[in-house]
Amino acid sequence: MAKVIILGSSNAVPTPGHENTHLAIVGETRSILVDCVSNPVVRLEQAGVDFNALTDIIITHFHPDHVSGVPLLLMDMWLMGRTKPINIYGLHFTMDRLEDLMGFYSWAEWPNFFPVAFYRLPEAEKAFVLDCDEFKITSSPVHHMVPTIGIRVESKLTRKILAYSCDTEPCEQTVRLADGADILIHEAGGAAYGHSSAEQAGEIASRAEVETLYLIHYPTGRFAKGDIAAEASRTYKGKIIVAQDFMTIEL
Ligand SMILES: [Zn+2]
Repeated sequence: MAKVIILGSSNAVPTPGHENTHLAIVGETRSILVDCVSNPVVRLEQAGVDFNALTDIIITHFHPDHVSGVPLLLMDMWLMGRTKPINIYGLHFTMDRLEDLMGFYSWAEWPNFFPVAFYRLPEAEKAFVLDCDEFKITSSPVHHMVPTIGIRVESKLTRKILAYSCDTEPCEQTVRLADGADILIHEAGGAAYGHSSAEQAGEIASRAEVETLYLIHYPTGRFAKGDIAAEASRTYKGKIIVAQDFMTIEL
């Protein structure tokens, strides 16, 4: 059965025990990293996921706390002798910059580099990302400071649906992305330009009529502010879980 592993739950300022927000979707035949921060090899290995077994990487947007780990991950795969291809998905805005970022490292000159395929996603709701025996993934644009996508994962085996808002203000696109989902992972960075408070995340979860709300991308450690689960419960009456690093969600 496929599972989603929370590899990081913090906003852009990580603290001990809370890495920047990124996730892994792990199935029998596909292992997908959603965003790529610090050197993701460490968290993947701690979570029992062989980093060289990754088949796909989805980059939600081009902010350092979501994308900066890509050069290190690709380099480490290359150093470990990877030969099989990897697929990277994101909006045009994101992929153009990611290719430029790798260009700064002159990666075209690294000998025997394995094939990397960049898939540019349309900035459209429920855009097709990938499909395999176990699940189908689509993406929708959300409202952040730069072009950003949230994703929806539908399990073909259990019929469970998981939506992830990524970084966003409360928006209609997230409501539709999460429509009727079993699980919504929504950011709770705080009520600020391009972000949402836990209370606003609760409102989105209520409107999308989801079963369980996971709060993520929130201030952690000494920067933490109050009880975000209590905040979300003002607007959402379903189950609320504050995502923690290494939590696993069965799909
Ligand atoms: Zn961001």
